[in-house]
Amino acid sequence: MSNLAHLSIKEAGKKLVAKEISAVDLARAITEEIEKKNASLNAYLEVFADMEAQAVAADKRRAEGEDHPLLGIPLGMKDNILIEGKKVSAASKILENYTATFDATVSRKLKNAGAVFVGRTNMDEFAHGSSTENSAFGVTKNPYDESRVPGGSSGGSAAAVAAHMAMGALGTDTGGSIREPASFCGLVGLKPTYGAVSRSGLIAMGSSLDQAGPLTRTVADAEIIFNAIKGKDALDSTTIDLRPSTTPARMKIGVPRKLLEKGADPDVLTTFESTLQKLKAAGHEVVDIELPSASLALAIYYVIMPAEVSANLARFDGVRYGLSTKGATLWEDYAKTRGEGFGPEPRRRIMLGTYVLSSGYYDAYYGKAIAARARLTKEVRDVLATVDVIATPSAPSPATKIGQNIHDPLAMYLLDIFTVTANLTGNPAISIPMGMVEREGLPLPVGIQFTAAHSAEATLFALGSEVERNIS
Ligand code: GLN
Repeated sequence: MSNLAHLSIKEAGKKLVAKEISAVDLARAITEEIEKKNASLNAYLEVFADMEAQAVAADKRRAEGEDHPLLGIPLGMKDNILIEGKKVSAASKILENYTATFDATVSRKLKNAGAVFVGRTNMDEFAHGSSTENSAFGVTKNPYDESRVPGGSSGGSAAAVAAHMAMGALGTDTGGSIREPASFCGLVGLKPTYGAVSRSGLIAMGSSLDQAGPLTRTVADAEIIFNAIKGKDALDSTTIDLRPSTTPARMKIGVPRKLLEKGADPDVLTTFESTLQKLKAAGHEVVDIELPSASLALAIYYVIMPAEVSANLARFDGVRYGLSTKGATLWEDYAKTRGEGFGPEPRRRIMLGTYVLSSGYYDAYYGKAIAARARLTKEVRDVLATVDVIATPSAPSPATKIGQNIHDPLAMYLLDIFTVTANLTGNPAISIPMGMVEREGLPLPVGIQFTAAHSAEATLFALGSEVERNIS
């Protein structure tokens, strides 16, 4: 039999329905890949000991007549998503031995669908980063070139799926953390419309920006996972049911040319242009658009996000969750716990965020960023009234070398130039593999990003499938 771990979710689902294979077969195929590769890739922080037992339970449910496209499908879960009774650390020392006391809504929905959780995947600490190098538990390596990063912050999820150690995975995306690793690892990655997926039970980073979403090898698989996790949730008052949207057969694709000039590698731009040409040849229209505030998106994001981070991380005080280091006074307890528990990047963001929210600087930074965010949101909304999607490369470069940006946070932040806008404006955006570029003699994947109007995920899936058909 061909390697079952290489099947897409959709293909595996068909074989499960036809009873050609069982969920236990799939779990064992995945386990074999993990045994071969995880020690060097470090995609999983923990592989769940009960994975096969979950598969047995899924097979039993199927035998009793249940069916769902995810019943018996092995999925990786980013280590900031709560699964009751399992450890969840956000790849931080401060939560190293913390056990989740309830299921995140996305976990509960996936359990109801019958998915098998393979393990918790590595990430940048508290999802702060674009390379997974900020994990307190070691970097994850890119399966295409182990001297390179898998992207971040959902780098473990991306590496696991790319290396067939899961059939799909959940990541979270606050400024690009699903789409950028998808681009670096040759995967499909979806950041849903803000509110489409419940944030209940996700370890919060920036609450007005965070969304969980799928990383998969095909567009159809991303859609299967998205359909299973989306929807209004009583536990998260910002959630919505998607409005019905129409997907035209011929799409109008807007390209913000001026933003692209801001600096993407020449061969990434060439691959992007040739992808657009193929879409034109397939009958779609490509037009130039203006998005003047998009060049400010990084600056806006790197004020608003740390502000929210500083508030969200305040709860890790040595009293309520995880690590607790005692000092002579309560104040010292806080200082010691937080000083020992947080790595350099969360500390940097807590300080930046506290600064931009402080009474002396609020108006100069946070207040301005909020106003600029509103302007950017309006620009994107107006543009999406004239085109169906906005297209850019997902990232300005292919996967970077391990160590390349780690001492230069600003260079790291620049990797997010094309992705942060969708988080600031709440729009859904997807990264689809668009081809390969070469670095040091090795081919590396790069992705194209499409952003659509709120609730128009269907448009992203339709165009994504089109790219998939035309590229491969
Ligand atoms: N790379 C971005 C950051 O470091 C995005 C992170 C994310 O989406 N979680 O903030």
